[in-house]
Amino acid sequence: MTEVEILIQALKNKEKLVAMLAPSFPIMFDYPQIITMLRKLGFSYVVEVAAGARKTNEELKKVIEANPEKKYITTPCPTIIRMIKKQFPHLVKYFPPNVDSPMAATAKIVAEKYPGYRPVFIGPCIVKKLEASEDRPELNILVITYAELLEIFKQFNIQPVNNPDDKFDIEESGLPRIYSIDGGLSHSGGLTLLFKKNEIKIVSNWKNCIEVLKNFENDRTVKLLDILFCDGGCIGGPGIKSDLTREEREKKILDYWEKNQR
Ligand code: SF4
Repeated sequence: MTEVEILIQALKNKEKLVAMLAPSFPIMFDYPQIITMLRKLGFSYVVEVAAGARKTNEELKKVIEANPEKKYITTPCPTIIRMIKKQFPHLVKYFPPNVDSPMAATAKIVAEKYPGYRPVFIGPCIVKKLEASEDRPELNILVITYAELLEIFKQFNIQPVNNPDDKFDIEESGLPRIYSIDGGLSHSGGLTLLFKKNEIKIVSNWKNCIEVLKNFENDRTVKLLDILFCDGGCIGGPGIKSDLTREEREKKILDYWEKNQR
């Protein structure tokens, strides 16, 4: 069964489900309309993955502060992790140890707050399905893309509904909301304060990533590589169905963050 088929079955069986919405959602969906639609579909709770991103940032900061002299490759991107393991295995030692991705960190928050509920990650990424099934099977996360969610809405005849008072059951109104834009990790995690400007390298788009990874070990200046596979970061993920340009997508994310700060 595909993840979509598993979710459809779970919704029909009225299983206990929590939707975990990735930070790039404003590109395709209106806020807070999407929350109300997910509740109508059958999710008991709707949470923001940006909340897990804050945990990721905290874990990362602790590792870096403990060893500020080391070089690091930081990424929440399972595609980059797989690329490095396969094509650049000598660089694996630069991954900070014991740092959960925002998806995994959010699933842990959900397990603590809503025991017995299955977390469903809804986001821009196909490879997150592998992260869930191969890397973190113990968290029992089901992963679907935004494009797949649209199909499921259609199948269950869920129409846009406006409830302006609706809000996330677990929300994060701070900078982690910009995580899906390249450099979002460094900026939202305060990592830019731990290094000099020229010590941080932010890169996205797989072609640029390969070039930077080839030179990473020999580069004496860069101490932190913040790297994402898709062009512009997760805002360019393959699970997003949108005609918006990279700049327009970035604007959607920044507008959502700016207008909904609490
Ligand atoms: S950059 Fe692309 S491949 Fe990597 S996590 Fe984001 S959407 Fe997935």
